[in-house]
Amino acid sequence: MGTDLGSFDITIIGAGCIGSACARHLSQLCEKKICLIGPDEPDHPRSQDTERSVYGAHYDAGRITRILDPDLVWAKLAQRSIPRYVEVEEKSNMQFYTPSGYLGVVEEGTSYIDKVKECAKLLQVEFELLDHQQLKSKFPYFSFPPSCVGIYQPSQGGYINIRQHVIAQMTIAQKQGCTLIKEIVDRVDRDDRGQFKIVTEKGNYLYSGKVILATGAFTPFKKLLPDPPKQLDIELMKETVVKLQVKDKDLRDMKSMPAVIYFTGKDARYDCYILPPIRYDDGKFYIKIGHGLTGSDKLDDHQQVIEWYRNVESDNLVEVLVKTINRLMPTFEYGSVVTDHCVSTHTPSNHVMIGEVNEGVTVLTGGCSHAAKSADEIGHLGALTALSNDWSYDIPKSEFSVYFKQN
Ligand SMILES: Cc1cc2nc3c(=O)[nH]c(=O)nc-3n(C[C@H](O)[C@H](O)[C@H](O)COP(=O)(O)OP(=O)(O)OC[C@H]3O[C@@H](n4cnc5c(N)ncnc54)[C@H](O)[C@@H]3O)c2cc1C
Repeated sequence: MGTDLGSFDITIIGAGCIGSACARHLSQLCEKKICLIGPDEPDHPRSQDTERSVYGAHYDAGRITRILDPDLVWAKLAQRSIPRYVEVEEKSNMQFYTPSGYLGVVEEGTSYIDKVKECAKLLQVEFELLDHQQLKSKFPYFSFPPSCVGIYQPSQGGYINIRQHVIAQMTIAQKQGCTLIKEIVDRVDRDDRGQFKIVTEKGNYLYSGKVILATGAFTPFKKLLPDPPKQLDIELMKETVVKLQVKDKDLRDMKSMPAVIYFTGKDARYDCYILPPIRYDDGKFYIKIGHGLTGSDKLDDHQQVIEWYRNVESDNLVEVLVKTINRLMPTFEYGSVVTDHCVSTHTPSNHVMIGEVNEGVTVLTGGCSHAAKSADEIGHLGALTALSNDWSYDIPKSEFSVYFKQN
């Protein structure tokens, strides 16, 4: 039969980076009854799962945060989110932000660096340009090719513990009156009164006047849009991550290490991002490396996405990533090597999709590998969209258009 879990004005489905932030903003902006529904991260290795049908891209302790970006929209969203980390930390009594700085490294003369500089100037972001020699003396543990230059953002950048960020947002949302239900939604139906009936995998149900879908990579796989047959135009990409253990003796030398993104400009297979030593749940410190987009393959259906999340042991990119670390950090004598998998969600515009897709249903998805750092402002925008049909934000609505697949 299932249990009636209550009636709400607005329900956010998906308690990940964006959904949790949206819940915080909504419960602050209005007096309405707000519900956030979504499961916790599994407390056991995902490889042991046989039944679970959804996972999240927030199962990690490190996500790079930076304003510097060649895309002005992403740069603005980050510039609005980063200063609020302090408020979220204080209100939740949780620490998730490490302002270690951000370093972009590229081939000299590429248009990438010009675009980043242009955005930085427009947004009055402080940055330093570093030639090869300056890169070497400032960050001696790195060895970038001599043709490379750096663009360094010393403040308002570094990394966030995204797991803690999500928990912090949920904690504040709950304090502000939001109801949190830790279940997976199986379907959303519209009843005779025009209300949504949200049914969970356990057969429990709740009613809601409006729905916000912040379900990341899993948005296409359940019956979440109440009036199909439209399919959102999103692409799901495999992401491989390698963590290399930092020995205690080396931690001091790497204390000042920034979060890094490296574009080769020549061979995109070796584009990568690197996070400084972060302490993980096993008590050990790891440097994390992941690849640029061109390294990834697409995932086509629900089963493939689930299997990618569960089979984290190895794949053909692990060797490439380890070799990249060996080349860029030749003196780094790492200990154990741990691999992980994740899935990123991409849209035709390379921006998040934000908008009403059916009457009363707002989509808030498509992080494009950029959204962890800016989830707070994206959640804010989702809240504003669900509360009013008038777009009164200073970035045009067209930047966040919702696209559907053509049949
Ligand atoms: C390996 C990797 C590295 C990244 N690095 C960075 C980085 O350095 N900096 C950065 O800014 N971004 C980074 N990103 C991107 C960032 O993590 C994502 O853009 C962000 O997590 C997207 O947030 P989201 O809320 O849309 O999705 P998620 O964080 O995945 O949250 C979606 C939530 O919805 C839930 N859900 C799904 N379906 C249902 C359902 N039917 N019922 C209930 N709940 C459901 C899931 O359980 C999950 O909790 C990275 C991503 C990956 C994969």
